[in-house]
Amino acid sequence: MSNPSLLILPGDGIGPEVMAEVRKVIDWYGAKRDLAFDVSEDLVGGAAYDAHGTPLHDDTMAKAQEVDAVLLGAVGGPKYDVLDFSVKPERGLLRLRKEMDLYANLRPAQCFDALADFSSLKKDVVAGLDIMIVRELTSGIYFGEPRGIIEEGNERVGINTQRYTESEIDRVARSAFELAMKRDKKLCSMEKANVMESGVLWREVVTEVGKDYPEVELSHMYADAGAMQLCRWPKQFDVIVTDNLFGDLLSDAAAMLTGSLGMLPSASLGAPMANGRPKALYEPVHGSAPDIAGQGKANPIACILSFAMALRYSFDLGDEATRLEQAVEKVLADGARTADLLGEEGVDPVSTSQMGDAIVAA
Ligand code: ATP
Ligand code: MG
Repeated sequence: MSNPSLLILPGDGIGPEVMAEVRKVIDWYGAKRDLAFDVSEDLVGGAAYDAHGTPLHDDTMAKAQEVDAVLLGAVGGPKYDVLDFSVKPERGLLRLRKEMDLYANLRPAQCFDALADFSSLKKDVVAGLDIMIVRELTSGIYFGEPRGIIEEGNERVGINTQRYTESEIDRVARSAFELAMKRDKKLCSMEKANVMESGVLWREVVTEVGKDYPEVELSHMYADAGAMQLCRWPKQFDVIVTDNLFGDLLSDAAAMLTGSLGMLPSASLGAPMANGRPKALYEPVHGSAPDIAGQGKANPIACILSFAMALRYSFDLGDEATRLEQAVEKVLADGARTADLLGEEGVDPVSTSQMGDAIVAA
């Protein structure tokens, strides 16, 4: 059997810095676990623009289509703000998402005990929290036609259209049920079926897909009530599946239940490939953080946890993923903090590289 293949795209700003720490983890697997990955590395975003005049070279795109998983750092930076929209660094990432047809965006909200004080919520509300939001990423109101600003009488009207086909709902629902099967077998679907036709169809199709997953306990909630419950008692949820717009809001809100941007991983999954696993791109939620780039201050945990998600969802190495997450937990419990995680005075922050070393050691 061939080794699992991984395309690494460090990108811009702190992207290469946090990715260097993931490399240490990957090297550790090769040396200590006899688990070799076929890793190739390429350019994306501003770095690709500087080299090729495009934020994503066709050859890179072709490689991304072939590998088991893509791991991306971050794209963009002030240097590229003047560029034409068509070659902006962000377009590289958008092209990857679009051509790989990554329709399910997975955003975990997980609270490490050592950081529970970071939340704006009471500690017992978030301690031990581990939920996952699945957001539909390629359709819905951000893409629906007609759209635009038109003249009507003597005023202008802004128009967007919420539109979902049965097959679009079906495939993201399946991703969510598959995920629920690997977790606590509990799925909550959120829409606004009380006031939106797309919501009515969403509920119908999700219920229908649920018949293929009789072990999963399925519930439905209006998205506004869901937002409220997410803040009140988030531990009632395991997996939440929702559309593009509601998912955008709910996943940002859920993420911040748990602390710093430097801690949050994500996965974007597409259709199953020949090996049965989905096309996949993993990336930290944070951006290129130009304000701290090049200073050794970036927290590499979001990127390392994104690699843990790749272990679990692309390489079928769930136990290894759990161990890596436990190593992160241990290092935090031992008190190591990058600058973004520092609340109290009198504690010295560790550097990006020291944090990576500590996780590898753990
Ligand atoms: P984008 O538009 O690419 O999302 P952004 O400007 O919205 O970028 P980030 O680049 O993520 O957001 O930065 C937001 C803030 O969070 C910055 O102050 C940055 O320094 C901080 N930050 C982001 N990621 C990290 C990290 N991994 N470690 C430490 N601080 C971070
Ligand atoms: Mg941002």
